Amino acid sequence: MLLGIKGPEWLLQPFTPLFLCPFAPRSWGANRAGFFLLSAALICSPFVGTNSAARASSQDALIDWQSFERQVRDGRIEKDVARWKLPEIMAHLKNYAAVYPFLNNSKWTFPVRGYDNRSVGGQNGDGFQPDIYYGRSAIEGYDFFDGNKHGGHPAHDIFVRDRNQDGLDDTTGKPIEIVTMTASLVIGVVTDWKPGSVLRGGNVAWLYNPVLGMIFYYAHLNTICVKPGEFLKQGAPIGTVGRTGAAANEKRSPTHLHLMVLKYDSGSLTPYDFYKYLADNRY
Ligand SMILES: [Zn+2]
Repeated sequence: MLLGIKGPEWLLQPFTPLFLCPFAPRSWGANRAGFFLLSAALICSPFVGTNSAARASSQDALIDWQSFERQVRDGRIEKDVARWKLPEIMAHLKNYAAVYPFLNNSKWTFPVRGYDNRSVGGQNGDGFQPDIYYGRSAIEGYDFFDGNKHGGHPAHDIFVRDRNQDGLDDTTGKPIEIVTMTASLVIGVVTDWKPGSVLRGGNVAWLYNPVLGMIFYYAHLNTICVKPGEFLKQGAPIGTVGRTGAAANEKRSPTHLHLMVLKYDSGSLTPYDFYKYLADNRY
């Protein structure tokens, strides 16, 4: 491992604003150009590094997932074709992720640091409503393959103390950290959302746990301090709570984390209600 860069997967997100992230080493920002060249060298030479086969497989699995997810999100792939492709993409991801130590804890970490189950939207977890009309979507119910147009609210929202909507905790004046609920492999991030974009998630992080067969979608983030290909232990920082996303950026929306878990089962990705894991967290 040279200069802390694990492999060419870093190249997948060359514009990640690492220098904006309060949790990233400062040197990352200053040395980005060097990292870029280094990563390019790792890709170009099969003799650099000791684990180039694993790197190649990681790169393929991650690139395939990211390309696929964005095609689905943007409606650039027929639903039937996407359904047909998904099992192979998930098999590759699972195969790559198998090299990491996914020691799963039966208790999950609450995803917003300094908060607990009292901050979860709705009553006793009833904010999880995958089968309804929701927001401005004309579609009833959630289907992963509907992408950015999907219906339903297949997620739990976790609200933070931010009355003035500056993205900082009203009591501490500081950014609010988001952490992993379980051990996870980072499989995709969006870090360049701008107001006016129709993307509903805003800045998002996609994480994966192959043992649980679950994909985690953290949305409306401000900063993100992880990159695709990175393995994160349970409770590791992902970024900070924000107000990004088409509706989440509007004044009427209280600042919150939108958190969806998809379970991969029988060739499909379906919303999983993980409320019991949130409710298990009292401070
Ligand atoms: Zn939500």
